[in-house]
Amino acid sequence: MANYVPTGFYELDSRLNGGLIKASCIGICGEHAAQIYPFLFSLIQNFLKAGLRGLYVCLDSSADDVKFHMKSMGINLEHYESDFSIFYLDFFTESQKVLIEQAKIGVLEYEPEETFRAIAQFLDWIKEGFLVIDSISTLTLNMDPRKAYELTRALKLLTRPFNLITLGVMYPSLLDPKVFSAVCSNADGQFIIDKETLRIGYVLGAQVNGEIFILTKDHQGRLSLKPALPREISGDMMLEVLNIFAKTNSVSVNPTLTLEVSLSSADPQDLIFTMEKLREAEVLNSRAHCSSISCPHCGSYKAYFHLKCPQCESLLFEKGEAIEHFSCGHVDFQRNFERDGELECPKCRKKLRLVGVDYRKIYSIYRCANGHMFSSPMIKFSCIKCQRAFNLEEAYLTPQHTYELTDHGRSQLHKIKSQKPLL
Ligand SMILES: [Zn+2]
Ligand SMILES: [Zn+2]
Ligand SMILES: [Zn+2]
Repeated sequence: MANYVPTGFYELDSRLNGGLIKASCIGICGEHAAQIYPFLFSLIQNFLKAGLRGLYVCLDSSADDVKFHMKSMGINLEHYESDFSIFYLDFFTESQKVLIEQAKIGVLEYEPEETFRAIAQFLDWIKEGFLVIDSISTLTLNMDPRKAYELTRALKLLTRPFNLITLGVMYPSLLDPKVFSAVCSNADGQFIIDKETLRIGYVLGAQVNGEIFILTKDHQGRLSLKPALPREISGDMMLEVLNIFAKTNSVSVNPTLTLEVSLSSADPQDLIFTMEKLREAEVLNSRAHCSSISCPHCGSYKAYFHLKCPQCESLLFEKGEAIEHFSCGHVDFQRNFERDGELECPKCRKKLRLVGVDYRKIYSIYRCANGHMFSSPMIKFSCIKCQRAFNLEEAYLTPQHTYELTDHGRSQLHKIKSQKPLL
């Protein structure tokens, strides 16, 4: 059964079906520790709150520094340390000592076997808990991609039997791209932190890819996460919209009138021209099936289609059921007559009695943004090609056809298809 541990960020948890899945190896990527720590420590705090035990492997900074940061975020470390919920493996301080003793930089390289041996001693204790490697970048620095792959695969293998959530801090800019991709190929999930955003690369057990959250910190340094986009929006469509707004500040949605030939994305006018020529050659026959309009100035079928108020040419109106009150002549939408379950004229304040006697219903009426009421709007077109406007009376009316293969056409087509290619 899938076992999810909450991250403590409500919106993130709801995207992740409840939290991070156990067991999994998650990479947390960023430019530097200051970007990663607030998020990482919030996760750790929530794991501890959920009763998980964990091991923190310090490679990039000393355990004391890490503890200091955690405490400054309000994590009650004394409590968790006193019941041995969290341990630190301080390789950083170890290296510091060796560096001082030997005065050689090469000793900073970490031996994977040694690291594993040290981690292994804690595994029984942190079983069902979490493991933090801070950082994977330091651990794999100077490794070739194969060795880095082996190492992270071993980490992943370790995660499964002990049912752990392993969090690996990563600084991609420090790593050789091949090493980075070798490391990533073993991750069950990836969070990428960049300035004020957190992007979910992918996460095991959740349908999230590339979703972006905005990170904000309150004055006490506590982190909160809000989705950058509404849940219903796909990343692809968001990119499409961003591309539009990279070119302009304003976008309108316009109703249009065009021709369409089903099953083809080719220009309909080119297709019609071709099919007309094939009709003349008796490959196709045709029958007219509808009339369509085109621009009286240039013949184009592409036009914007607008409805206008006959009085003021407003393009914006609403439509609804209306009532005409005979005695005062007032016409308005029915909802404006409704009052305490009865009908009352909003103009003369008389109660309406009987339909057909003192009032009538009008089943559809339009009202423009300027308050004009009318029973049918004016239809206006503006040609997308020549940009001139025309109304229905001025438009060209052209029959459109349905085309079908003739018997002759069918055998012609058969011959053309069976012709071997020239090359
Ligand atoms: Zn109007
Ligand atoms: Zn009235
Ligand atoms: Zn035109």
